[in-house]
Amino acid sequence: MILWMLILHEDLSKEADIVAEALREVYRLDSQIEEIDLTTLFSPVPNLSNGYFDSGGNLYRELKDLEASVLVLTPKDLYMNTGNVFNPEDDWVFGYQLEFFYVVSTARLRDTDSKPSTEVRVSKELYHNRVKTVALHEIGHNVVKAHHLRDAFWVNAQNGRKLNLGAHCTDYSCLMYESVDIIAPDPSLGYLEIGGEKRYDAGLDQLLQRMYPNMLCKPCLKSVDLSEIN
Ligand SMILES: [Zn+2]
Ligand SMILES: [Zn+2]
Repeated sequence: MILWMLILHEDLSKEADIVAEALREVYRLDSQIEEIDLTTLFSPVPNLSNGYFDSGGNLYRELKDLEASVLVLTPKDLYMNTGNVFNPEDDWVFGYQLEFFYVVSTARLRDTDSKPSTEVRVSKELYHNRVKTVALHEIGHNVVKAHHLRDAFWVNAQNGRKLNLGAHCTDYSCLMYESVDIIAPDPSLGYLEIGGEKRYDAGLDQLLQRMYPNMLCKPCLKSVDLSEIN
């Protein structure tokens, strides 16, 4: 069986190339790249410009016939539809993983903080590193099988709201550590909780500065298993 990833992008061909190269380097996974318009697959969030809810099962159903895993790169600003309460301040995401679909939104990777932007306002290098890291992290949720991963949560310190983010690495220099923002928020606003510990260092740019050269910590790297990728 040939293992590969289908990268679908909405007018983000440079980003797709960079992610494809990193997939080859880190996971030894080849990709095929196609441009696509996914406007009908994400539903708009009322009163938010460029805001869309995550695809839920929609994207999965549309693309299910494909034998490959699918990574979507979109400039749409994405929000998880968590059910009864919707709070745009808590519910936006850099990306998500749903079975064998991986989605990365570039909207909040373009500025000096995580405010959504249609223009890149940081160096191209930093922006590309962010995109690559988020993409490999989301795919890592299926291929990194290390036993030391622990459930992580975003805790909104102001209202106590706690969102489950899934299993993550506890090593803060590892790709599979969780980032909750571009720069970790002030502890009075919120924090990452992992394995029951509060962490105030869960900024994506902070992770980029301390990340291992091959992105994953040793136990995570050793546990990479592509057998379930297709
Ligand atoms: Zn994650
Ligand atoms: Zn790790």
